[in-house]
Amino acid sequence: MIPPRKTRTIRIRDLAVGGSAPIAVQSMAATRTRDEVATLKQVRLLEAAGADVIRIAVDSKEDVEALARIRGETRAVLSVDLQENYRLAAQVAPFVDKVRYNPGHLHHHEKTKPVEDKVAFLIDVAAQHGCAVRIGINAGSIAPAYDERFPDDHVSAIVACAVDHCAIVDRLGFANYLVSIKDSDPRLVIDANARFAAERPDVPIHLGVTEAGMPPEGIIKTRIAFEQLLSRGIGDTLRVSLTLPFDDKGKEIAVGRELLRDIEEGRFRSVPPNFFDGLNIISCPSCSRVENEQFIELAEDVKRLTRYAQEHKLTIAIMGCRVNGPGETDDADLGLWCGPNFVNLKKGELELGAFRYDEILPRLVQELDALIAARRD
Ligand code: SF4
Repeated sequence: MIPPRKTRTIRIRDLAVGGSAPIAVQSMAATRTRDEVATLKQVRLLEAAGADVIRIAVDSKEDVEALARIRGETRAVLSVDLQENYRLAAQVAPFVDKVRYNPGHLHHHEKTKPVEDKVAFLIDVAAQHGCAVRIGINAGSIAPAYDERFPDDHVSAIVACAVDHCAIVDRLGFANYLVSIKDSDPRLVIDANARFAAERPDVPIHLGVTEAGMPPEGIIKTRIAFEQLLSRGIGDTLRVSLTLPFDDKGKEIAVGRELLRDIEEGRFRSVPPNFFDGLNIISCPSCSRVENEQFIELAEDVKRLTRYAQEHKLTIAIMGCRVNGPGETDDADLGLWCGPNFVNLKKGELELGAFRYDEILPRLVQELDALIAARRD
């Protein structure tokens, strides 16, 4: 049921991805990278679960130093996630097999430098160290220039960004790359990836529904996107992103493999009735940037406490850090993003304040009740 794919084959160290290679299953360490003991434990846990590639986020010199030591302890295929600080690529590339950059974050540093020059820097570093590259687009953080070009068509903006970055990398003569286009809404993931695959059928695709949330809803959202795309021959590697306790992260790999098996054998699941019409909780899978480990518990508490509002078509977003938290909560009716000691609460783009971890839940319920009451009026 998974038709042959048309993409070229790239190599992440000795792992072939794309073309006729098996679809690779990935995950990401949810621990702070600088805590190398916890992160190495996480790498081993994901490896034991059968991860083909393990991603680690790096934000600082301490993270780079820890990653260098982690590399010395494992032969796992490692990918590094760069966000704001693209120049860290030069320091981490010697220790990893793949570098992921987010085009939407390249304009944050050295604002006057053309994006093309920043990409050239990244590609040069990757080529020197034999790394593959992922152009990792997140629908929640695309460069403002694309939204200005396509003010009423977010999917076109995202696809144009992906196609443009492929063209930049092509012009640099580098072919060992793939693309991902992720969002928390599986319908957008299907639409954007299908349109990108039609424009660039040669480029391997990494699939994912980001911030899918907690099981079982997070798995259902992921399944909706993967069934639609993989059965059309779109997708060469995948990651299931779930909000889970650190010790349970192997479940992302198990779910990814189960989904692949089901789709291959034609076992498709029907979407529960009204799945998109009720309360939607999106939450990030956590990574090195998570600012307080209470985040997982917070996400679980929010889900439990808001069950009474299940019938209401509202979105609550819960994010683990200040890097992606402020932007990724803008589209939610209520958004929470974690700082070390406080949780920031938002209503749409409006900031309602920062609350202690033991204060936030009653305040959230108060805001949720007010939203529900306003809709009744
Ligand atoms: S929101 Fe922050 S902590 Fe959560 S996965 Fe994204 S970068 Fe990591």
